[in-house]
Amino acid sequence: MLQAEVRVDLDAIRHNVARLRAGTSAELMAVVKGDGYGHGMLPVARAALDSGASWLGVCTLDEALTLRRAGITAPVLAWLLVPGLPLHEGVAAGVDLGTGSLLQLREMVEAAHLAGRPARVHLKIDTGLARGGATPADWPALVEAAAKAEADGSVEVVGVFSHFVYADAPGHETIDQQLDVFHEGLATAERLGVTPRLRHIANSAATLTRPDAHLDLVRPGIAVYGLTPLSRSDTDRLSPGERFGLRPAMTARARVMLTKRVPAGQGVSYGHTYHTERETTLAVVPLGYADGVPRHASSSGPIELGGKVRRIAGRVCMDQVVLDCGDDPVAAGDVATLFGTGEHGGPTADDWAEAVGTINYEIVTRFGSTRVPRVYTGAGAPA
Ligand SMILES: *Cc1c(COP(=O)(O)O)cnc(C)c1O
Repeated sequence: MLQAEVRVDLDAIRHNVARLRAGTSAELMAVVKGDGYGHGMLPVARAALDSGASWLGVCTLDEALTLRRAGITAPVLAWLLVPGLPLHEGVAAGVDLGTGSLLQLREMVEAAHLAGRPARVHLKIDTGLARGGATPADWPALVEAAAKAEADGSVEVVGVFSHFVYADAPGHETIDQQLDVFHEGLATAERLGVTPRLRHIANSAATLTRPDAHLDLVRPGIAVYGLTPLSRSDTDRLSPGERFGLRPAMTARARVMLTKRVPAGQGVSYGHTYHTERETTLAVVPLGYADGVPRHASSSGPIELGGKVRRIAGRVCMDQVVLDCGDDPVAAGDVATLFGTGEHGGPTADDWAEAVGTINYEIVTRFGSTRVPRVYTGAGAPA
């Protein structure tokens, strides 16, 4: 490492996918949206596909086409599609398209005609999240239109799917309610002549805790990256200390730029929101909010340096943070770890999420497209 880096352990990705795969008889779609939750979409996609995933899930058409342009031929589903996109490019590239409205379906039919081949679609039913998908009231009309389009050869209904509201709270009443609505929606589809090969609703949380929701395909995202979607207390309750055997894949770290002795009472960083209690050594770490460190981590973000976890002293700047190291022998060039696997007591993305009041998903995703170089380790790591 020269200055700072985000390390992504592709062996951990492989381990996690294999682990998830071993826990289900369903097919596995690795969700690689958001640039692979900040880990890099393409290397993650390849690692997932050679360890048990048979599908990839993304949001945008652009993400799906990027996978195809990189030579990835595995089935890909894209589910966040606004009107007016060049969907025919997706159809021509064999990208599966998620639709939850008649308007979207109509565009897919047009795209099929342009591409000269049927559009592969997954119909989405909104079972309660109130985000994408057709409401149960609008569902029969969507299914009827899809059945008609399937009969005239312009679409192939490959799947029917939905998404959970609160599967990260095992036992939450919405989980059973949504499963009921989903099964009713499937029965309606069947009655109207649509029998999809793939019924899917399970995100990471449901993949880990609700085998009855696996159906034909599971769609884990965060668990692929070795992080649990469940709260700490739920994780501990269900599987003490084990985190379902997942291994965090991302480590963020940097070398200390300089250290210096300062007197007691020294205000530190912008606004002097932190003052030293006694004469001490400050260490400047060259990562800031331009790199993904949340500014909300001011005076709270944990960083391991010299074998101890310390809290950021004062404000997070655009490019750097400061640590108050007391009389510990820290020096310029030492490696400071923001988060990683958590082995040997080092901070994790979960610790950061807790410190900042967010979720681990946001922590790792923030470190995605920044100036910090991503370094891959493990088999198949790109040079
Ligand atoms: C992001 C997403 C997933 C994966 O969710 P995780 O909680 O990361 O497992 C699955 N399905 C859909 C529709 C999503 O948007």
